[in-house]
Amino acid sequence: MLKTLKNRFEQGYRTSSYPKTTIELPARYRGRPQVNADAPADLAARCADACPQEAIDAERKLIDLGRCVFCGSCERLSKGRFISFGQNFELGVADREHLTTDGRIPALARHAKKHFKALFGRSLQLRQVSAAGCNACEADLNVLATPFFDLARFGINFVASPRHADGIVVTGPISRNMRTALFSTYEAVPAPKVVIAVGSCALSGGPFHGSPEITAGLDSLLPVDLFIPGCPPHPLTNLHALLNYFK
Ligand code: SF4
Repeated sequence: MLKTLKNRFEQGYRTSSYPKTTIELPARYRGRPQVNADAPADLAARCADACPQEAIDAERKLIDLGRCVFCGSCERLSKGRFISFGQNFELGVADREHLTTDGRIPALARHAKKHFKALFGRSLQLRQVSAAGCNACEADLNVLATPFFDLARFGINFVASPRHADGIVVTGPISRNMRTALFSTYEAVPAPKVVIAVGSCALSGGPFHGSPEITAGLDSLLPVDLFIPGCPPHPLTNLHALLNYFK
């Protein structure tokens, strides 16, 4: 007991003060991109050709963050003259179309459904479904339960049974083999329920897009309430989206 108290005293309070204060992320973190509308058309076309995700619309000079895996190739190729990534981790949206952007994303809180805030604002229990994910999105969701992020202090928890949940959080490209499990889990959640898509794979198929073995976006199967892009999304991106949509 004394050892535990001594350890606690030495460690101090480690939980992040976010969202009361902002958090500085490392310089190499790639957050919300800025697209330069004045960039030469041939540079935009070269970036679009180099993009492994076909995420760049060179003509309209837009980037689809639901497809982007934040590899940075376009930024390196254009030396930041066409696309440059910033530190802003606030990327979640309520409408998939808002992810096709020049860098501007509408404030999520304004698009949150009011009845969800009333229903789940004080307590939100989520069941995670890894639908053929690589475990990157899953790991960065798991980390929200650690003392640093301490998701439970906001009344949000991950639960084992969908029958105890208010919604599902889906990661991965939803392989054909996982569709039945996904539908069974969704059906086991009592209504009203929420569906959250996390990561490029769940949003668009990610690196597997175009394969007949996977789904081209969770919203083609289920009504998605919240889209969180990234590969994987930073834990703060997930936390920001959950707090702004439900709190
Ligand atoms: S950072 Fe995104 S848009 Fe740019 S090349 Fe990589 S996947 Fe494509």
